[in-house]
Amino acid sequence: MRWLLGNWAFLQLRQFIAYKAEAAGVPVVLVDPRNSSRTCSVCGYCAKANRKSQSSFRCQECGFEANADFNAAVNLKARGECSDALLCRSEAHASNQAQAPVL
Ligand SMILES: [Zn+2]
Repeated sequence: MRWLLGNWAFLQLRQFIAYKAEAAGVPVVLVDPRNSSRTCSVCGYCAKANRKSQSSFRCQECGFEANADFNAAVNLKARGECSDALLCRSEAHASNQAQAPVL
């Protein structure tokens, strides 16, 4: 029941966002959020250790530091842009393209 209610809430939130976005003429692109908070938005290195705390991100590979939510948002934006561009040939976005269904 908890699973059902939790998913229902996300489904309803998604429907609200889609409704409001459509009314404003804004396209909605769904992307796979997996590891978006553990992946460096600068170099692409992904590791659990990158996420030092709930609010701070520090890349173990290149040293990039940022607010963890900001870093994850940049990753989600890149995935959305890549999945939106059907002919994207970028090596860096190849894995994102495979994981990012567009509905
Ligand atoms: Zn990095």
